[in-house]
Amino acid sequence: MMIYRENPKNGDKISQLAFGCMRLPRDEAEAAREVAFAIENGVNYLDTAYIYPGSENVAGRILKKEGLRDKVNIATKLPHYLVRKPADFDKMFNTSLERLQTDRIDYYLQHMFTKPEEWTRIKELGAVEWTERQKREGRIRSIGFSFHGGAQSFVDILEANDWDFCMIQYNYLDVNAQAGQSGLARARELGIPVMIMEPLRGGKLANALPPKARELWDSAQPKRSYAEWALRWLWNQEGILTVLSGMNSMDMIKENIRVASEAETGALTKTELALFDAARDIIAEKFNVPCTGCNYCMPCPSGVDIPLCFMFYNDLAYGKRLPTMMNYAMRAGEKNAGKCASCGKCEAHCPQSIAIREKLLETKAALEGFPYRPVRAAMRRFAGM
Ligand code: SF4
Ligand code: SF4
Repeated sequence: MMIYRENPKNGDKISQLAFGCMRLPRDEAEAAREVAFAIENGVNYLDTAYIYPGSENVAGRILKKEGLRDKVNIATKLPHYLVRKPADFDKMFNTSLERLQTDRIDYYLQHMFTKPEEWTRIKELGAVEWTERQKREGRIRSIGFSFHGGAQSFVDILEANDWDFCMIQYNYLDVNAQAGQSGLARARELGIPVMIMEPLRGGKLANALPPKARELWDSAQPKRSYAEWALRWLWNQEGILTVLSGMNSMDMIKENIRVASEAETGALTKTELALFDAARDIIAEKFNVPCTGCNYCMPCPSGVDIPLCFMFYNDLAYGKRLPTMMNYAMRAGEKNAGKCASCGKCEAHCPQSIAIREKLLETKAALEGFPYRPVRAAMRRFAGM
């Protein structure tokens, strides 16, 4: 039986496995079978976004055709960076409602905050009043945000509004990256439930582990897939309401539902937890910079998000170059390595004794070549980021 977690804000019982719909617009009949199967087997949270091409439309058609709307909580996201005037809130929200063929969004998120100034900007455009009106009129049940910046920015945004929930990237590798475990702990203190995205770090923790990490998990007891270990690490923890998985095959859905029906909070033993520390150390051996994301070097007077830049530089050790560069251009934004003025202030605070200036130069060389400039120019022009 699926395990549900209670939302402390509104009493909703949310399945600890959520269906990430970002890649839904493939074979629609197959997608409908998968979504219906997941819902019939207890998944009651579907996540999409205004900007995922076609995703809201397909999710809406499937829920309508299969008569499943009232069995799930729909989460979708407003691209706040496209809001230029107050009327844009209504325009984009109504489009989401139409595409999803519904009259309410259960969990509505400001999509992809990276710094508090982004919240301040839309707050000044009336985001709080607009949200309160939608809530009063029953069109939004809970309001939150998804986050992709540094740890301090996360806490600043978390504390700047009366949020019902938030969503962060979190997995056993990223304990200190972005919001990280300190952000999760702060959200818990504030009683704000946290949804988790990227539980497998874009699949890397399932299918791109270095050989030594694979050996470690292959010899671990009990026998579990790499993905199962990574998911169990999350479900072992409190403060997490649900974990999003972008499931795109029936086998994956069945497997994730099985694990989500077994993995209780606090179930991992000390021996098992030690395996995650060992795996993290092995994976980190391949990194370009031994940055733990502790944030002690921050803030930088030139505005560089040092741990975020190093996270992307380290991503190069695993992943494909072009997507990493695109992600870096979008998410590091104006807090990029190239902004470093080489003052040296940060280096005295780094417990890893990283030559931060030198490593930022390497990061710049690796990530700020083509297509960095055109992507940044497009982001500035079309999204004001
Ligand atoms: S050396 Fe560069 S990154 Fe470090 S504080 Fe100075 S400007 Fe910021
Ligand atoms: S202080 Fe060092 S280890 Fe910590 S985030 Fe900064 S660069 Fe990384």
